Amino acid sequence: QYDAGVTDCLFCRIVAGEIPATPVTETDTTLAFRDIDPKAPTHVLVIPKEHHTAIGDVDPVLAGQILATAHQVAKAEGIDESGYRLVFNTGKDGGQTVFHVHCHVLGGRGLTWPPG
Ligand code: 5GP
Ligand code: ZN
Repeated sequence: QYDAGVTDCLFCRIVAGEIPATPVTETDTTLAFRDIDPKAPTHVLVIPKEHHTAIGDVDPVLAGQILATAHQVAKAEGIDESGYRLVFNTGKDGGQTVFHVHCHVLGGRGLTWPPG
């Protein structure tokens, strides 16, 4: 999947181990690691190991695997009971800045709604 020197995707480089990240959990198809600039006590990113730009490009099986990993993270972080938020920022208006699809797992404090 990752082809060094051809793709310049930050999260593909994390999957390849070229850029360090703090791992939380991993499956065959997904990787969860801590956001470098956390917006809540728990702020973990869940990504497919395969490169896809946005959630609309992800097949339903892989999308389900991303969500299952996100729930595993919530349990491991001890926020499954207190509650948490899963977010896919998508495209310009969605505030997406890294164009390798990722699910934010946010929790550990009360989160406001609606978002800005
Ligand atoms: P987006 O705005 O695209 O939904 O979220 C991208 C997220 O990736 C941001 O929350 C940002 O803090 C995080 N991020 C950007 N660069 C890095 C990095 O090099 N390592 C890690 N762990 N997170 C990053
Ligand atoms: Zn990528």
